[in-house]
Amino acid sequence: MRITEVAPRDGLQNEPAIVATESKRQLVRVLEKTGVDEIEVTSFVRPGRVPQLADAEQLVGMLAADKPEGMLYSALVPNEQGLERLLEVNSDGPVINKIAVFTAASETFAQKNINASIDESITRFRPVIDMARQGGLMVRAYISCAFVCPFEGPVAPATVTHVAARLLALGVDEIDVADTIGAATPEHIESVIAELFHRLGPCRDNEIGDPCLTLHLHDTHGSAAACVRKALSMGVRSFDSSAGGLGGCPFAGSGKTRAPGNIATELLVRTITEAGYRCGVDSRRLEEATKAARDLVAREPTP
Ligand code: MG
Repeated sequence: MRITEVAPRDGLQNEPAIVATESKRQLVRVLEKTGVDEIEVTSFVRPGRVPQLADAEQLVGMLAADKPEGMLYSALVPNEQGLERLLEVNSDGPVINKIAVFTAASETFAQKNINASIDESITRFRPVIDMARQGGLMVRAYISCAFVCPFEGPVAPATVTHVAARLLALGVDEIDVADTIGAATPEHIESVIAELFHRLGPCRDNEIGDPCLTLHLHDTHGSAAACVRKALSMGVRSFDSSAGGLGGCPFAGSGKTRAPGNIATELLVRTITEAGYRCGVDSRRLEEATKAARDLVAREPTP
């Protein structure tokens, strides 16, 4: 079972607090010790756009100093400018191993969130992906609103598959389907994943170098664990999660009262373990990481 820890990027990006770079470095260090497979450490979006992650260069510079052998780091990259910044910090050796780009399966959400149609966003990826591959980087592509859209309702599985096929044709290594508003039910998971596996068979293998299908769940309505169980039963073997549940739902509530966003790593690990699978995460180390993550944003434990 692969786990990508997203607290330092997706988590902190969606928390109101601005965390010191040194504290982020410590969070990544404690997350590395848990045994997760990959950490999405930051984002190379325009610093003014996401002030929480404006220190991407400094953080990656700090992480480069004592990155553990075999650890995989990824970073979000919205465009060529972002990738150029990443390649610059990678120029003394590959600190970041993978980039993540993002589009959506809902036309309305794409327009409102990235100010482009799905088509336009994929067209923009092409040079970014080409340049990333030339730089020896792997590529993850997020598909937001892959199950339910806040504006359009349930998303047709065929639409998700169509977007995923176009991304795979561009050479991405990983398709990451996201329940962006945490509204997916196990039934939504079943219909979309079944269609993806049916059409894109090879992407169920999760070996490095083979296309991988990852599930990015939010626990906004408390159904993430049930969705994990459904996905596991269908053969999904790669999940994203955020230690301490960092990253509230950007579409509901505010501050400490915000609705949950990213599924907490502790809930994901518990669900995987209870279903009889192993994910190689050390529960004591994870407890430490969970506490560290919550302390950073002074957050109450998630239920
Ligand atoms: Mg998320």
